[in-house]
Amino acid sequence: MSKDDDIPPPPSPEEISRKLSEFMKASFGDAVSFSTITDDMPFPMDEMGEDDDEEPQEDPSERFKNIFEFDYFPRDIKAHLDRYVIRQEEAKKVLSIAVCDHYNHAKSFKRLEEDRPDKAKQIEFQKQNVIIVGPTGVGKTYLVKHIAELIGVPFVKADATKFSETGYVGADVDDLVRELVRKADGDVELAEYGIIYIDEVDKVATQGEMIGRDVSGRGVQTTLLKLMEETEVSLRNPNDIQSQMQAMFDRGGSGKGNKNTISTRHILFIVSGAFSGLEKIMKQRLRQGTIGFGAKKENTHLDANAFGEVETQDFIEFGFEAEFIGRLPVRVVCEHLEKGDLLEIMKSSEGSLIRQYEREFEAYGIKASFEEDALQLIAERAAKEKTGARGLMTVCERILRDFKFELPGSSLTEININRDLIDHPEQALSRFKAMDKGFSGSKIVSELNSFRRQFREAHGLDLAFEQDAMQALEELSEQRNMSVMKLCSDLFRDFQYGMKLVQNNTGQQVFKLSREAIEDPDGYLSTLVVDSYPERKQGKAEEVVAEDLPAGNDGEEE
Ligand code: ADP
Repeated sequence: MSKDDDIPPPPSPEEISRKLSEFMKASFGDAVSFSTITDDMPFPMDEMGEDDDEEPQEDPSERFKNIFEFDYFPRDIKAHLDRYVIRQEEAKKVLSIAVCDHYNHAKSFKRLEEDRPDKAKQIEFQKQNVIIVGPTGVGKTYLVKHIAELIGVPFVKADATKFSETGYVGADVDDLVRELVRKADGDVELAEYGIIYIDEVDKVATQGEMIGRDVSGRGVQTTLLKLMEETEVSLRNPNDIQSQMQAMFDRGGSGKGNKNTISTRHILFIVSGAFSGLEKIMKQRLRQGTIGFGAKKENTHLDANAFGEVETQDFIEFGFEAEFIGRLPVRVVCEHLEKGDLLEIMKSSEGSLIRQYEREFEAYGIKASFEEDALQLIAERAAKEKTGARGLMTVCERILRDFKFELPGSSLTEININRDLIDHPEQALSRFKAMDKGFSGSKIVSELNSFRRQFREAHGLDLAFEQDAMQALEELSEQRNMSVMKLCSDLFRDFQYGMKLVQNNTGQQVFKLSREAIEDPDGYLSTLVVDSYPERKQGKAEEVVAEDLPAGNDGEEE
């Protein structure tokens, strides 16, 4: 055995970190701690809910290229936002302009930096950081998220209340920047053009009478200010010994200095909050010329007209440092949403919650439809929640939870949500159960469910049998003296080919089958296929079907 073999391998950063942790605990008890952030530890960012989907993204370098080919006009961005966000016209306009200015500048700066680096350094540009004032659930995050998605930059959201000045007690504001890098799949250069959105920023305003909070509020403002101005943030958290050690190892190993900081120069900052009481401060100033002491903050919502009168000094009186508010030159209000707006959101926003419910039921082969009077009632109840469009989700969940539990797996294929169902959900549920009973006792339902499951697993398509279709199947299986399973296998053999064609054309995934479909399966399928072609060119469609379908009904299984 050589001497080298006796030397144990060097400990990993994780091991060193664990030993240090034990040592600190033994020496100082719980008085001192340090964090070791691991990959599976969630970042203390705000929950983004459905917004924060981590869908597979395109190649980061491709996305990055998009920024430098940025050629949107403000009206393009507004048109995109119009598809999703109802109302908030002024906010959509102001944000569209700010975003275009910001990324046009980034684009020309980058070009200049490549051609004339000396000149690029001299360019002065005041960043178009934005402050959005508005109550909860009115679309502030929704606006920013859709902008980031459209232009293809990473986007991070957090609540200002989670941060502390030092990052020792609360989260570290620099983590926001590091999180951008994570969202950009490690592409530091792309992260340097991301958007950071900080909500509840009004909570870090200082208030004369509250000394403790005063200090921490001011501290957080100062640290945020540093980010909004140009600064370099280390890619590794200085409080995280493990990552610091990893950095040491990396440096020791390669000797090459990879870029280990990220510049905030081109990061766009958007902050928001409800700012209850700001209007009162503004009105008092207008009335008195000077501001009275102890202006009490009350829960009023600013509308766009009143907001037009708000000045920097009102924000300062509210409790912001002049430098902080000075770094947020673009200011806009998002207005309170009324019942009519909530109705409009359900009916016409592309991200409507109603579409989501329809999809959720559809996944179980159930067609859900909402009647106008039901939508009216939902909007009315949601408006009473006073949480903006978030109230819609609260109300719908409350109404539909039991239906979402009871209906899937039953024989029912339709739910019609009307005012009566909302007013008397228990009776409606009992009616559904009674309708289901006629079948649920019979073995046809479980057999049919097995067939559906097999079909779905094999082809990714769902067959939803309506009540009359089940009746027809029951009759036919008796007539032919055949199990329902075998009958369905015969009737729907090779159906997947035609259905996939329809799916390609229309995106349809669930196929409703009525009595007619059982009595004439081929006729049902060919009508479906022909109708799925937008031009409905009968002859053409038939040609395609003939080409794509295997000959006859006895073709081999896929
Ligand atoms: P906040 O103003 O508190 O940031 P969000 O933007 O997160 O609220 O809104 C919560 C959800 O409500 C969004 O994901 C969206 O589905 C819906 N929503 C809110 N406002 C609107 C709006 N003006 N138009 C359409 N949907 C909206």
